[in-house]
Amino acid sequence: MKDCLFCKIVAGELPSQTVYDSEDIMVFKDIHPQAPVHLLVIPKKHIANLDEMKDEDQALVARMMGLIRDLARREGLDKTGYRVVTNHGPDSGQEVDHLHFHLLGKRKLGPIG
Ligand code: 5GP
Ligand code: ZN
Repeated sequence: MKDCLFCKIVAGELPSQTVYDSEDIMVFKDIHPQAPVHLLVIPKKHIANLDEMKDEDQALVARMMGLIRDLARREGLDKTGYRVVTNHGPDSGQEVDHLHFHLLGKRKLGPIG
């Protein structure tokens, strides 16, 4: 998708601190981390947000969840706790219109809201 920041990262047109890269999923560090661990887990194909996820994409998104579990374990967050967040639309403050899950951890996370 032209002009999509995360599609440009997928295409290698913009740099990222990539921690995982497969055929259809990519994980990189957030440029403005809100916690010592702040990873962004994205599908390589352009899906704008959860609301635009098609039924045929559900298996891919489920695999993203399994990957988040594995990454959290790798960081030791399964012991201390972590948070997984996705934003959709204006009220959430979604900045980048390419589906992504934030994985946050390694500090005491405040209340959601
Ligand atoms: P959103 O508000 O859309 O859920 O989150 C977008 C996230 O992308 C923000 O946490 C922001 O810091 C991060 N971000 C924005 N631009 C870039 C970038 O160019 N590279 C990386 N690695 N993260 C970015
Ligand atoms: Zn995109």
